[in-house]
Amino acid sequence: MSDATGTARRYIGRFAPSPTGPLHFGSLIAATGSYLQARSKRGLWLVRIEDLDLPREQPGAAAHILRTLDAYGFQWDREVVYQSRRTPIYHDALSRLLTGGHVYYCGCTRTQIEAQGRIGTFGPVYPGTCRARKLCDGRGRSLRVATHDGAIGFDDAHLGHFSQRLESETGDFVIRRADGQIAYHLAVVMDDAAQGITQVVRGADLLDSTPRQIYLQRLLGLPTPNYLHLPVAVNESGQKLSKQTHAKAISLTDPRPYLAAALRFLNHGPPSSLQAAGLGDLWRWAIETWSPDRIPRVHRIERIQPV
Ligand code: GLU
Repeated sequence: MSDATGTARRYIGRFAPSPTGPLHFGSLIAATGSYLQARSKRGLWLVRIEDLDLPREQPGAAAHILRTLDAYGFQWDREVVYQSRRTPIYHDALSRLLTGGHVYYCGCTRTQIEAQGRIGTFGPVYPGTCRARKLCDGRGRSLRVATHDGAIGFDDAHLGHFSQRLESETGDFVIRRADGQIAYHLAVVMDDAAQGITQVVRGADLLDSTPRQIYLQRLLGLPTPNYLHLPVAVNESGQKLSKQTHAKAISLTDPRPYLAAALRFLNHGPPSSLQAAGLGDLWRWAIETWSPDRIPRVHRIERIQPV
C-alpha cells in the first residue's frame, strides 16, 4: 500500500467491539479475521471499545472482552481506545458539519417517519421533511446529514463492488440522536481516521453501512480506508449471532476449540497435525497460511458448532 508520494504505508487494522456483553462466536470471527489480516501483512492491530451507547452497555463487559482476547492469544498494539472518552472530538466534527451546512436539526418522531410510508432497503427512509425547515437545536431534535442520490460505491476486498444511492435507499441519516447520543457512523469514521486505519475488516452485516461512512469521510475531509467484509455467523433461524439473539459467550478458559472453529468458519481449518498444538503454534500456522481468497464469498453462514 502506498500514499500519494509513493511511500509504503504500514498496514493498520482494528477490532472494534461494542461492550454489550461478553464476546460470542460471531465477534470472535471478526476479531480473528481482522487479526490474521493485520498480522499476515506485518501490520498493527488495534482494539477500540465502542462504548458510546451507554444504555446498551453492560458494566464490566469491556474488561471482560479484553480478558477474553488476551486468553485467546490476541496481542494488540498501542493502548486500547474507548469511544466514551472521545466525545469532544465527535462534537467538534458535528460543529464542522453544521458550519458546512451538511446537517440539519430534525423534530420528526419515528411514528411520523413511518407514516410517510417510504420503505428502503433498511426500513423507513427519511423523506427529508425537516431539511428546509431551519429548526434550531432543542428537546427531541436529532441531527441528520443531508444526502444526495449520486451512487456512493467502493470495492470491497472480498465481496467486490458495492454501491448505494443514499437519498433513496437510506434517506438523510441521524448522526446525533434526539437524546444527544452521538451515532455510530460519526464516531466510527472519526476514530478510523484518528487511528490511521488502512483497512477495516468486519462482518458483512456492516457492508451496507459503509457508503454512509464513506459519505461522512468525504464531508469531513477524511481518508477512506480499504474495506473487507467477512461472512457473519447466523443461528438456525438466520439471525446474526448477537446479544439480542442470545448468542452464547465463548469460553474464557478453553479457547482452543473456539479458535479452531472460527478458523474453520473462515475456511482455514487447522490440519490434524495441529490438533494437540498450543495457541501460539495455532496462531503461527494461521498467520502463515492466511489467505482472504479462501474465505467463503457469502454474506452469512450458519454457525458451525464450536466444540
Ligand atoms: N462496534 C461494532 C460492533 O460491535 C463494529 C463496528 C465496526 O467494526 O465498524 O458490531
